[in-house]
Amino acid sequence: MALVTKAIKGTQDLLPNESYKNRYVEQTMLDIASKFGYKEIRTPVFEHTELFSRGVGDTTDVVQKEMYTFDDKGGRSITLRPEGTAGAMRAFLEHGLFNEPLPQKVSYLTSCYRYEKPQAGRLREFHQFGVECLGTAAPAADAELISLAHEIFSHLGVEGLQLEINSIGCPTCRKKYHEALHSYFESKKADLCETCLDRLGRNPMRILDCKSPVCSEIAKDAPKVLDYICEDCSAHFEVVKKHLDAMNIPYVVNPTIVRGLDYYTRTVFEFVSTQIGAQGTVCGGGRYDGLAEQLGGNSTPSLGFALGIERLMLLIQAQNTPLPEEEKPDLYIASMGEAATVLAAKLAASLREEGISVQYDVAGRSVKAQMKFANKLGVRNTVVIGDSEIESGKVTVKDMNGGESVEMELDGFEDSYQSYLIQSAVAEIAGTEGIDMSGINLADLF
Ligand code: ATP
Ligand code: MG
Repeated sequence: MALVTKAIKGTQDLLPNESYKNRYVEQTMLDIASKFGYKEIRTPVFEHTELFSRGVGDTTDVVQKEMYTFDDKGGRSITLRPEGTAGAMRAFLEHGLFNEPLPQKVSYLTSCYRYEKPQAGRLREFHQFGVECLGTAAPAADAELISLAHEIFSHLGVEGLQLEINSIGCPTCRKKYHEALHSYFESKKADLCETCLDRLGRNPMRILDCKSPVCSEIAKDAPKVLDYICEDCSAHFEVVKKHLDAMNIPYVVNPTIVRGLDYYTRTVFEFVSTQIGAQGTVCGGGRYDGLAEQLGGNSTPSLGFALGIERLMLLIQAQNTPLPEEEKPDLYIASMGEAATVLAAKLAASLREEGISVQYDVAGRSVKAQMKFANKLGVRNTVVIGDSEIESGKVTVKDMNGGESVEMELDGFEDSYQSYLIQSAVAEIAGTEGIDMSGINLADLF
């Protein structure tokens, strides 16, 4: 019988020796977003299929080809979320968040599901960090949103991402643009791919997003949306740029960005890298003023972005971006014999209550094997408890990085160990700051 030990194509495991990096990156994003006023929202992993076909749009690749859709046992058509915006907007409308002070700013970390051809940076289950700013039409919001993504990348120390922005206008001005696109592509009909022929009739702007080499070559000379946007849209775009300039955020205007989802209006943007292969868009977003109405709600101009976690991690790996090291356990209590292990468990429990990370032997190993294990864990300090320590009532805390060993009474060990930690921290700071501590007895300070 074959082993059931293969993950499904296009899915990935995040293993314990890597996961701390994702946790750090994700926590950083949530924290920065929170400084911008974003609060976390959590929505279900599956929704009514109709939410996405209406919200993301019938003519998009996502809806036409990529959704994981199935009937549940009650005969309802269900879809695993391919993105986070539709669910966030659904929740906003369903729970009347439009009655709260606007804009409502929400952030999320979610898994997303798209049936795509798996390759580097393209998975069938992937993860996004996203934010949505719901209920504002002002261009200041567009620029602030972009500055949030910018701040995340610069805080993480990720370099070389190019910010590309564009305006794709509103439904009114886009009508004229659609006509121009239509007649352009109509003249190239013979060379377009099958899918684009269908797009030509339904939504010619989608052709600009086609990944086939022939279609993208044709798309290069297509009419540019910026030549067609109306005065209001153009003025909006100018203010967005003015804000970005004021915030010193570099960008280029790329008139070919249209984004893959139907709901976008006016400002759209991408953060693109050339360092992670063909799937170079790490973050994409924009304004979607029509989405709320599309879902049956009242007009709620809004905007957001989604940042692909796997692509960001690929970039961090490619650039060797320094991230904080994983926290190592502080103390390993090695024990010899049952009474000592019981004591180790007791001490560990009270030290952990004080927030100190402690490990002891839960595998019944010899002291030698325990010390080897502790070494592999990279612990800072160890103590050994055996019969003689229990008898003498004294243990020795050994600094695994070569510092001095310190003897402590077992009685009150928890307190002694804690002050020892504080003293070592002070000594370390004094060391790095070059403060002369000679003549000062640290123990006197506490
Ligand atoms: P692409 O053009 O690469 O297909 P998209 O326009 O479909 O991207 P969005 O729907 O805007 O992407 O999603 C936002 C971000 O989510 C992308 O910029 C990317 O970082 C990430 N992303 C999208 N699809 C995938 C996927 N299949 N695997 C991994 N990450 C993805
Ligand atoms: Mg896509």
